[in-house]
Amino acid sequence: MDQTTNTDLIPFQGQQPWGMQPDMVINDLLTDDPRLWAPLSANSWSRPIHLNVTSGYYVHLLRVNKAGLIQRHRHSGAVHAHTLKGRWHYLEHDWVAEEGGYVFEPPGETHTLVVPEGCQEMLTLFFVQGALIFVDPEGNATGYDDVFTRIEKYKKHFESVGLGADYVKNFMR
Ligand code: FE
Repeated sequence: MDQTTNTDLIPFQGQQPWGMQPDMVINDLLTDDPRLWAPLSANSWSRPIHLNVTSGYYVHLLRVNKAGLIQRHRHSGAVHAHTLKGRWHYLEHDWVAEEGGYVFEPPGETHTLVVPEGCQEMLTLFFVQGALIFVDPEGNATGYDDVFTRIEKYKKHFESVGLGADYVKNFMR
């Protein structure tokens, strides 16, 4: 088949469906621009990637410098994680999530994320469906986090660093 009759390289000529959300491309996931990283605690930050209010999930990059932990919580939905730097584990499991690895956390699981001593920087991409329900050691709920509480957190952060609260809309679908 010659160039003139090869239709494989002709872009789609039709209309995309009405109501379709715009696509999203972020090529600088690991940016050092501190304005894009909202502090979660003294040693941890979160960079929003995709905040999906129609399906109730969010994708974010978690960065932890020095040893630290993420408060004990139960998941109502599934979590997918890809570790980009460093390592981490759960107090409830004996495996370790290593750089370059993938972890699936099933809905219903309760765990406490720990970045071990000696790890200078942990960087992990998390895809979180549903809510994190913070719990005491017996499992009694003490609070929660979901895409909407995350949006509030990022809005306040973007406002405080001069990007404006509406900057969060870049990450919302
Ligand atoms: Fe979790």
